[in-house]
Amino acid sequence: MSAERIDPEDQWPLPPAWLWDCAECVRRYEAMKHVQAVMAGLAAEDPGVDWDVTDSVVGTQISLARHLADEHRPALPGWEPGCGTCAHHRAGVDDGQERVPGQRTGAVMAAEEHRARHLFAPPRIVGLL
Ligand SMILES: [Zn+2]
Ligand SMILES: [Zn+2]
Repeated sequence: MSAERIDPEDQWPLPPAWLWDCAECVRRYEAMKHVQAVMAGLAAEDPGVDWDVTDSVVGTQISLARHLADEHRPALPGWEPGCGTCAHHRAGVDDGQERVPGQRTGAVMAAEEHRARHLFAPPRIVGLL
């Protein structure tokens, strides 16, 4: 067994205080944590754990990020310096923004959902989506 030290890259950030004021945020956040805990338990029992479980982890992350982007857009963090995925989304957004006034393009929505991930996902996986 390795030591208790957790690599900062794997550290799950503490969500912002306002997240706990929203029942929907709390529900989705706890669903995500629950699935992670289940997966951690399964992985401990059986290292060949089924990847379907990992899919549900990703699914709960997407669900939380989508809600954050839809309902808490003003509270989303800005682009993260040094995050390649932010840079990628930023380029896409600068390209296609406000073609239809008041309507968000797919690129803008994907970028917002990614920025929302910075609130709750550890650095190692934040850029996966
Ligand atoms: Zn919320
Ligand atoms: Zn980013």
